[in-house]
Amino acid sequence: MVDYHIHTILSDGKSTHEECLQYALKSGLQEIGFSDHVCLKFPDWATRKAHFEKMKSIFLDLKQRKNLPFSIKFGIEADYLRGLEKAIQKSIALFPVDYVIGSIHYIGDWNFDTHPKDYKHVDINQFYIDYFQLLDECSRSGLFDILGHIDIPKKFGYYPSFSLKPYYEKMAKVFAQSDIVYELNTSGLDRTCKAFYPDDDFIKTCFNQNVPVTLGSDAHRASDIGKYFNQAVEKLKAVGYRKIAVFNQRKRNFILL
Ligand SMILES: [Zn+2]
Ligand SMILES: [Zn+2]
Repeated sequence: MVDYHIHTILSDGKSTHEECLQYALKSGLQEIGFSDHVCLKFPDWATRKAHFEKMKSIFLDLKQRKNLPFSIKFGIEADYLRGLEKAIQKSIALFPVDYVIGSIHYIGDWNFDTHPKDYKHVDINQFYIDYFQLLDECSRSGLFDILGHIDIPKKFGYYPSFSLKPYYEKMAKVFAQSDIVYELNTSGLDRTCKAFYPDDDFIKTCFNQNVPVTLGSDAHRASDIGKYFNQAVEKLKAVGYRKIAVFNQRKRNFILL
């Protein structure tokens, strides 16, 4: 199994790369992938520009590590920001990455997944509509290998009054056309929504459109690496998935579940 979504102290994680490696030794994972935030709005949860060089040198250093029972992959979790595609492309090119996770944490200037209190005056229906429009653009942008936590608007337990099924159908088709992978992100189970990202129906719809999947814990501390993965694998198998996507220098491959 692989965990491709891990944050360290370079962005908003609490553990160092070394602490993550030590914890992963006990995890039985085949691959672990670091994916600190790179966001061109530079909020406090993203890697500071001054640390880009450090991140790059940590990547290159850890590549030299031998005798580990798992391979180490390097990714970034890059924010999709409408209109900044060229700048995002440039920032990705700074790092020798194996994969890039494209995530949406902003609608306009609103960082919607950070403070639940921000929701007081939000039109939740419009929020979901705006989010899925951005997800559509994010998927088609060609910038990313993996889409992160694809139904994150549910994080704080706010749901629209309409059914999301037509949106799942539309999005899964867009993902298939974009030839992009999505992640089953297990961190939602510890949030207000108490569910993996994405929901079961969304996973089934993606499977029916032959959209490949990979796995991520979105760990912000070493002890969350691989969290709930047994449950996640069971879920993917129950839906019909038999393999998950892995990456090496942005080339996609598959391993059996
Ligand atoms: Zn994220
Ligand atoms: Zn993350």
